[in-house]
Amino acid sequence: MRICVIGAGYVGLVSAACFAEMGNQVVCVERDTLRAARLARGEVPLYEPGLETLVRTHLANGQLRFSLRLEDGIAQADIVFIAVGTPSGEDGSADLSHVLDVAHELGARLRHACVVVTKSTVPVGTGERVAQSINAGLARRGLGIRIAVASNPEFLKEGSAIDDFMRPDRVILGCDDPDSLALLRRLYAPFQRNHERLLCMGVRAAEFSKYAANAFLASRISLMNELAALCARLDVDIEDVRRGIGSDRRIGRHFIYAGCGYGGSCFPKDVRALIRSAEQQGLDAPILRAVEARNVEQKRWLFEALQAHFDGYWQGRRVAIWGLAFKPGTDDLREAPSLVLLDALLAAGAQVQACDPVATAEVARRYPEAVASGRLCLSESPYTCVEGADALVLVTEWKQFRQPDFLRVRSLMRMPVLFDGRNIYDARELSALGFLYRGVGRPMTG
Ligand code: NAD
Repeated sequence: MRICVIGAGYVGLVSAACFAEMGNQVVCVERDTLRAARLARGEVPLYEPGLETLVRTHLANGQLRFSLRLEDGIAQADIVFIAVGTPSGEDGSADLSHVLDVAHELGARLRHACVVVTKSTVPVGTGERVAQSINAGLARRGLGIRIAVASNPEFLKEGSAIDDFMRPDRVILGCDDPDSLALLRRLYAPFQRNHERLLCMGVRAAEFSKYAANAFLASRISLMNELAALCARLDVDIEDVRRGIGSDRRIGRHFIYAGCGYGGSCFPKDVRALIRSAEQQGLDAPILRAVEARNVEQKRWLFEALQAHFDGYWQGRRVAIWGLAFKPGTDDLREAPSLVLLDALLAAGAQVQACDPVATAEVARRYPEAVASGRLCLSESPYTCVEGADALVLVTEWKQFRQPDFLRVRSLMRMPVLFDGRNIYDARELSALGFLYRGVGRPMTG
C-alpha cells in the first residue's frame, strides 16, 4: 500500500519505518527542515533502539522517503496518518493546533479519495472536526469527493517502540466507514500473524480508549506512590507490599512500582486533557485530579528528601544524578522527574553532576547557563559523575545503573549517601557497604 505519515516524531517515525518494513511504500512528511534533511540522510534525530537501522534499510531500498512537502507525501497515498504532537494547552486541554493545521492543509491539497487516520492522541470529537475541515476544503475546491476520517490511537512505548509496533498487544481501529475499515484491516494484517489483535469500534470510542488507558496506568502509579508515602511513615517496605499485591491476578505485577513520579510526553498531558474534557462536560474528575496532584508532589520527593538530609544547608553540596531521560531507553525529557530535581537543586545552589547514556545533549540544550557556569556538569560515565559527591540520586533506572561497582562508587564519593528514586537497589546490601540508603516508601537504612 502507499502510505503517508505526517509528523516524524517518536510515533510518526516509528510507524513509518514499521509500515515500510512490512513492504509498504511510505512517505513521511516532516515540516521541521533540519529534521527532514537529517532523516533524508539516514540520521535519526531521536534515540529509539533499532529505529536507525530500520530507517536506513528502507531509505536504501526506496520503501521509505522523507519530504518537507505535504503534496509530495499525499500525491499517491491510499492512507494518510496524522502523527503530529498534541501537547498540553495553557488550560491543560490538548492543543490541537498541529492536527487542525494538517486537516486544513489536507483539505487544500488532496486531489483524490483516501483514508485519513488520526494516530495522534486526540480528544473525543476531534475526528469529526478533522473530517469537517478536510471536506470543507475539498468542497471549496469543487472536488466531488468526501474523505472518511478514522482513529487509530498509538500505544507504543518509547524505549521499546519498534517491538511494540511490530507485535502490539492490540490495534484499535475506530472507523465508521466499512470500506476504510477494510483497508486498515489489510494494512495491519501482517502485524497480527499469531492471533487477531484488532479491536474495531466507532471513532469516538477509539479516541477515548487512548485517554482511558493512560489515565488507568497513571492512576496505578499514583496510588502506589500514595501507599509508599504511608509505608515510609509506618516503617513498612513498599517493595514487600508490591510483591504481596502483585501476585494477586486481579491486580497483576505491571505498573505497580513506587518511584519519583511519572513523566514523558503522554501520561501527564493526557491525564490533564481528560480532566479538562470532563470539566467541559460539566463534570468533576476528582480521581484524575488526585492522580495528577500526587504525581506533581511525587516529583518533588527526591529534592525534599535531599533537603531534609542536608538540613536545608546547600553551601558547597555536590549532588550526583544517575539518569535524566523520563525513562530508560529514550532520550525524551518531556516532563521528566529529573527536570524538577535539577531545577530545585540549581535554585538551592547545589553543584550538580549528572549522567545519562543518551539524554545529556538535550539537558545541555535546556540548561545552557548552568552548564556554562560549571554548576551543572554532564558526563556519560556513572563513575566520573559521582566524584566528590555528597549524595547520589538514581532517577532513571537505565540498565548500566543497575549493578554498579558500589565499592568504587563509595571510594569516589565524598559521602556514601544514596537516594533511590526507583527502588532498584537492595537496601540491606548497600547499608552493609556503608551507604546511607533511602528509597521511595522504604525504611531508612545505614
Ligand atoms: P513529537 O513531538 O515527537 O513529533 C511530532 C512531529 O510532528 C514533530 O517532528 C513535528 O515537527 C512534526 N509536525 C508538527 N506539525 C507538522 C505538520 N503540519 N507537518 C509535518 N510535520 C509536523 O510527538 P510524538 O511523541 O511522536 O507524539 C505524536 C502524537 O502521538 C501525540 O499526540 C502523542 O500524544 C501521541 N503518542 C505519543 C507516544 C510517545 O510515546 N511519544 C505514544 C503514543 C501516542
